[in-house]
Amino acid sequence: ADFGFERVSLAEKQGRVDDVFRSVAKRYDVMNDLMSGGLHRAWKSHLIGMLRPGQNRPFRHLDVAGGTGDVAFRVLEAGGPQTKVTVLDINEAMLRVGQERADNRRAGTRFGDRIDFVTGNAETLPLPEDTFDAYTIAFGIRNVPRIDMALKEAFRVLKPGGRFLCLEFSRVDLPILEKIYDAYSFHVIPRIGARVAGDRESYRYLVESIRKFPSPGRFAAMIEEAGFSRVTHRVLSGGIVAIHSGWKV
Ligand code: SAM
Repeated sequence: ADFGFERVSLAEKQGRVDDVFRSVAKRYDVMNDLMSGGLHRAWKSHLIGMLRPGQNRPFRHLDVAGGTGDVAFRVLEAGGPQTKVTVLDINEAMLRVGQERADNRRAGTRFGDRIDFVTGNAETLPLPEDTFDAYTIAFGIRNVPRIDMALKEAFRVLKPGGRFLCLEFSRVDLPILEKIYDAYSFHVIPRIGARVAGDRESYRYLVESIRKFPSPGRFAAMIEEAGFSRVTHRVLSGGIVAIHSGWKV
């Protein structure tokens, strides 16, 4: 069945997104590897490469829609001892998995008080303004009902000079790749979803939400409308994903 998102209220849309991630939280990391063929790791590495957290100075990082902590852990690994990351997500089930992953790290590789987990909504961040050196959101913004509000909030909590980076599915721009990608997303992904998470509908929703997300150019314009400067984007893997960047000056 179609979620029929056009016909549902924003609150209802968020409710359905929450159901999806509550139901997959425990298997989220395995699913991510299976569905992207491990590619999400390369995309996230690319994101962290653009971020370059400082080695010898304090670096306050916020990862929104941070789920099970994947991006946060990578920022901490790339940064120096003064790098601190806040993982924010609307879904406590996802954050709990992230907290467990952080707690279960081997002695010597634990992050201790350099990471914290906060339950909250990207549209109304429970955080003070001018606080963070960088803000990331990976595969999260397309789930947020009011993207414009989330972008304004990103701008508010960043320090002047702070960086916004968004990794998200985008538009495949090669005709041949597009055919393969369509077949993969509409047939293979829901099937893996049914097998591994017992949840075909959630993964159908995932595919649909990717189709509805604005084009890279339109999304760049929205980031500028929220106040960001020097907005750029680059596409990876033939347009399967894009990384948008902006600065608060
Ligand atoms: N960033 C992680 C990664 O790349 O592995 C998780 C991405 S997961 C596909 C999307 C996440 O967005 C989920 O954990 C979900 O709970 C979260 N989310 C959805 N709506 C949100 C909102 N309004 N505010 C904050 N997080 C939200």
